[in-house]
Amino acid sequence: MLSLLEAVRKNKILVSDGAWGTFLFQRGLMHGECPELWNITHREDVYAIARSYIDAGSDIILTNSFGGSPIRLKHFGLNERAFELNEAAAIISREAGGDKNIVLGSIGPSGCMIMMGETSEAELFDGFSLQAEALKKGGADAICVETMTGILEASIAVKAAKAATNLEIVCTFTFDKTAGGEYKTMMGVSPSEMVLSLKQSGADIIGTNCGNGFEKMIDIVKEIRKIDNDIPVLVHANAGLPVFENGLVSYPETPSSMSARVDELIESGANIIGGCCGTTPEHISAIASVIRKRR
Ligand SMILES: [Zn+2]
Repeated sequence: MLSLLEAVRKNKILVSDGAWGTFLFQRGLMHGECPELWNITHREDVYAIARSYIDAGSDIILTNSFGGSPIRLKHFGLNERAFELNEAAAIISREAGGDKNIVLGSIGPSGCMIMMGETSEAELFDGFSLQAEALKKGGADAICVETMTGILEASIAVKAAKAATNLEIVCTFTFDKTAGGEYKTMMGVSPSEMVLSLKQSGADIIGTNCGNGFEKMIDIVKEIRKIDNDIPVLVHANAGLPVFENGLVSYPETPSSMSARVDELIESGANIIGGCCGTTPEHISAIASVIRKRR
């Protein structure tokens, strides 16, 4: 099987998967429950999510391990089980993907701030190392450090994952549009600052995820491409900003409204395209059909 980088070079554009979090809630995960524990207690549900994205045409499948760093699992008293839960996440996605789909081990933020003294660089490094190692052991082909907002934590996670696994590392940041029309993360990082720092940290693929819809992803990729024309760029776009109504969350962007702009996203420089919050197998299927036509 080709590595992620080799597959990008060969196919130019790859399809990634869609939302996990919103999908887990749909299948009955309760607020306050640990999503990663489902890799043990609700294995069939987690497998079904992975499988549905592969059936929708995704080349890549992520793992149910976004909140699987020991420091984050501590909130649920599950930090001692971090290795087991991450390994299980990768085993499930590997099983769903077989030997045709690339399994991308998901690592999300710790939720703790070094600046506030809530954690230390060493604690973060050790936690992300353990998580990446477990994902590799379960069968992940590459690691995706995602939804990052700060340069320090992102670079610790990238370096830790690389050192622990020697796999290819993807890292994506989440940007918002400021009142002044610029794109910045919650911690004030611009797309160009992200590019420079992640390349220095050793990320093989960079990009952006979550955020507030497809159109803004096009702007962000253009900004990334102003700084670097070569490094592969991954985009996991939300189906727009969530709308809260009668206690229910919905997302405004439909499969067809998202897929209508896929060509534009590719022209702006994206290489791997999938979804984040609010996207479903139908969104991925619509995106995949545009990408397949170009191959
Ligand atoms: Zn998201």
